[in-house]
Amino acid sequence: MRPTLEWAVPLALGRIRHLLIDLDGVLYRGNTALPGAQEFIAFLRRKGIPFRLVTNNSSRTPEQAVQKLAGIGIEAQAGEIFSSALATGIYLREHVDGTETAQVVGEAGLRQAVEKSGLRLVEEGGDWVVVGLDRKATYEMLARAALALEGGARFVGSNPDSSFPTERGLVPGAGALLAALVTTTGREPTVIGKPHPLLLELAMKDCGGTLNDTAMLGDRLDTDIAAAERIGMKSILILTGVSTRSDLEKTSTPPDLVVENLQQLMDAWARA
Ligand SMILES: [Mg+2]
Repeated sequence: MRPTLEWAVPLALGRIRHLLIDLDGVLYRGNTALPGAQEFIAFLRRKGIPFRLVTNNSSRTPEQAVQKLAGIGIEAQAGEIFSSALATGIYLREHVDGTETAQVVGEAGLRQAVEKSGLRLVEEGGDWVVVGLDRKATYEMLARAALALEGGARFVGSNPDSSFPTERGLVPGAGALLAALVTTTGREPTVIGKPHPLLLELAMKDCGGTLNDTAMLGDRLDTDIAAAERIGMKSILILTGVSTRSDLEKTSTPPDLVVENLQQLMDAWARA
């Protein structure tokens, strides 16, 4: 069925009791809050809708993410941040025995999450190689990671983003670093972030939701909406980021609802 605001409001919005919210393109763009971002968070709190701010970016710790949001006027708590780093940590906790070691190509958010999962961080060798965005990665780090993988280390990527948007333009993302290691070793990583569904599944559980009462709000058909579709989660596309109306015509993963912006979503939800 073609998604329209009018069709979806009575069917979907009234039933949503938990919300997963993508950050870039939804609440902010770069270092600027999008219109209605603060109001939307306040609206969810008034309505008693628990939410998680779900991001593929593994570089920040929850505390650092809270600071970034506060800096642009959006108030959130560390427990409301759910990054691919956190999800990677939860995945690892379920797969490690407490004596294993890991090499991390990644920044503070990922390193903290891997350590909290019970893995001891090492610079060389190791039972696991865990890779995320690392803006200080060097050839030597990739060489050591490749050697560990060739020695049989297990291989995990926080997210597959090929690029990372900056003021200068697009620069290599976590997926680009993963690709270097895949090319070198022929090994394929387990990848946690969108469009793989594990990040959303774990965020939903953390939020206390189920597939019947949780929706994903995001700006990208190929990641946010595709990941939701894979696990049968309701999805809302917002047109303030990457995907456009013309992308909607071509997509094989249509969202349940499309909104122009946060104000329109709040108005519709208030009426539902
Ligand atoms: Mg986004």
